Amino acid sequence: MKCPFCGCEQDKVVDSRSSKEGRAVRRRRECLECAKRFTTYEYVENFPLNIIKSDQRREPYDRQKLLTGILAASKKRPISMKKIESIVDKIENELEKEARTEVPSREIGQYVMDELYRLDDVAYVRFASVYRNFKDKDEFVSEVKELNAKEDSRQKPIR
Ligand SMILES: [Zn+2]
Repeated sequence: MKCPFCGCEQDKVVDSRSSKEGRAVRRRRECLECAKRFTTYEYVENFPLNIIKSDQRREPYDRQKLLTGILAASKKRPISMKKIESIVDKIENELEKEARTEVPSREIGQYVMDELYRLDDVAYVRFASVYRNFKDKDEFVSEVKELNAKEDSRQKPIR
C-alpha cells in the first residue's frame, strides 16, 4: 500500500480488526520509510447479483429490501435483528459461493421461508403469504394445514 505521506510502498500492518458486521476489515499500517501511520479498509466486493422477478424482469439485488421483508414478517415476534441479519448473510454467502449472477426472487423467498419455518411459525406464514403471492385461497389453506400438522407432530409426547 502506497504511503500517503511519502509515497513509499513498503509498510507493515500494526493492527487489524473487522468492522461493519464483519463485512470490512480495518488495517492500521505503518510506513517503513517515514514511520507515519495510516488506515486502509478492505471490503467484500459487492457481488453483481440480479434478481429475476416472476414476470422475468431483472433488478439488482438489494440487501436492505430483503432485510425489510423479513423484518416485516417478524414484527412483534421473538426474532432478533441479529438473527435476521444472519439469515441474509447466510443467503448471500451461499449465492457468492456458487458464484451466481442471477437468481429468481422465488428461490430467495424459498430460502428465507426455510429459515423462518424453523424459527417462528407466525413469521413464516406472514412471509410465505407475501412472497408466494398465494394464487388462490386453497393454496393458503393448505399452507396453514401443513403448519398445523407440524404443530401436532411437535406436541406428540416423547416416549
Ligand atoms: Zn511514508
